[in-house]
Amino acid sequence: MLSIDEALAVVRERTAACSGRPAESAPLSEAAGRILAEDVRADVDLPPFSRSTMDGYALRAEDAPAAGVELMISGEAAAGRPGREQVWRGSAMRIFTGAPLPDGADSVVKLEDAALHGDRIRLAGAVHPGENVALQGEDLARGAVALPRGTALSTAHAGLLAALGRGSVPVFPRPRVAILATGSELVEADARPGPGMIRESNGAALAVLVAQAGGTPVMLGVAADDPEVIRARAEAGLGNDLFLLTGGSSVGDYDFTPRVLANLGVQVHFARVRLKPGMPTIFGTRGDCAAFGLPGNPISCFVVFHLLVRPALLLRAGVERTAPLFFPARLGAAVRRLAERDQCLPALLALEDGEWTVRFAGWHGSGDLTCLNRANALMLVPRGPGEVEAGERVRVTPIDGGRGGDVSLGVP
Ligand code: AMP
Ligand code: MG
Repeated sequence: MLSIDEALAVVRERTAACSGRPAESAPLSEAAGRILAEDVRADVDLPPFSRSTMDGYALRAEDAPAAGVELMISGEAAAGRPGREQVWRGSAMRIFTGAPLPDGADSVVKLEDAALHGDRIRLAGAVHPGENVALQGEDLARGAVALPRGTALSTAHAGLLAALGRGSVPVFPRPRVAILATGSELVEADARPGPGMIRESNGAALAVLVAQAGGTPVMLGVAADDPEVIRARAEAGLGNDLFLLTGGSSVGDYDFTPRVLANLGVQVHFARVRLKPGMPTIFGTRGDCAAFGLPGNPISCFVVFHLLVRPALLLRAGVERTAPLFFPARLGAAVRRLAERDQCLPALLALEDGEWTVRFAGWHGSGDLTCLNRANALMLVPRGPGEVEAGERVRVTPIDGGRGGDVSLGVP
């Protein structure tokens, strides 16, 4: 049986990168969360001209080797109103933040470092070449790649794209992710469950997770544990970039997912993972579609989404570089290991004494949806004897960007 790391490697290897659909154009206001489909190159230098970063006086540094030097002021340069003359030897020009550096000048002395006496200034100290000047092209040279294809655009990129004149950007189409819940005990979430029945919750949970990861959920509803019914819906599901099927992924008499996927020509790469919760997880591919048979238990489904499905979705979305899935944190209180399986547990991550510290959130098992109210991360507890002790390192991955329930937390 594969470990979770091995399973993730298989998923990454087998998931077709990018859908074959052509790139779309996204307006800048809607580009955050989308994946850049082409390199964006600078069409101008940034900054486009050398400019003053301070209010003060533009001068030649060679004229200002020491305190006490006096220079004659001539002319003025302001933002949007460049100075008309050049700065001659022994002179200076009044300049304001954002104004182009006048010809002849190579530096700017701050207003407060020069005493004004009539039409002359006396310097409080030496001025060095380039002081208080942003040079043309120092941030980015014209023609250079500002953002490479495959960049996951965030709110942080909008300003740069606007500065480069990109009112819209080419992005990969959002992956379409079909979601089918199976189980004869399931009723739709807006219905009242009768005896022995429960509300279907995985579909809704997966839909928001998919959307947050940049995919478009395609809801295929609920199917009873009946291979013919599941087969018909699964055939539709396999026409998407990803197909997520929950429930029935194990080896019980009413678990039809493995058979249905195999009968539909899905090449199954693994059908179990050495993980709790989440052992009955199936991953296969048919053509360009990556299909996941996810366990029906809501927390198992949630965990496996984060560990395996989300990375596949990002790959399929065209993301070239992802941040590592896990980072190490200090364990706040001992957790019992399982001998045979690694565990991925709902956890609360917080700064304690200046160190990221993680604690098991507690639960009644993988059917207990309320445990996520107390969690903002998932933590991996490696299999083995005894306990992982407080103070040891475990690997964690934040959920919901690190904000779980009412816990406010910056992502480290
Ligand atoms: P299964 O994976 O089909 O063996 O289901 C495991 C457990 O998860 C059972 O208690 C199911 O009733 C429950 N379950 C399965 N699918 C869902 C679902 N879509 N929403 C909520 N619970 C589910
Ligand atoms: Mg079932």
